[in-house]
Amino acid sequence: MACVFCNVAAGTLPANIVYQDEDVVAFRDIQPVAPTHLLVIPRKHIVSVNELADSDAALVGKLFLTAKRLAAESGFAESGFRLVMNTNEDAGQTVFHMHLHVLAGRYLAWPPG
Ligand code: AMP
Ligand code: ZN
Repeated sequence: MACVFCNVAAGTLPANIVYQDEDVVAFRDIQPVAPTHLLVIPRKHIVSVNELADSDAALVGKLFLTAKRLAAESGFAESGFRLVMNTNEDAGQTVFHMHLHVLAGRYLAWPPG
């Protein structure tokens, strides 16, 4: 399997997994840009938001609900956190298996660079 995040989901590439179920996997980013930096991915290989199908609606909802729960469990529901999904070059997407960044633990400037 050529895809890094498919390998993480399959367990063939080690990752610091914080949650997984039949649909999604959440793990710590190897190059964190905030004190807490998690990635939530679908097990299904979807390249980016551009490739989402109507039939993926529940899966996308699950990514967000998983991120919400992990942020709350990590204690950031009140202080705040940011969910980011980069798509293609201008947004800086580097891994082409859709993933939701969960960033928390410091003040996050807006707008992003
Ligand atoms: P993006 O730039 O939005 O595509 O984000 C890709 C993210 O994946 C970056 O923050 C990387 O640090 C992270 N990343 C790449 N490979 C791995 C890996 N094997 N385990 C955990 N995080 C990774
Ligand atoms: Zn993949």
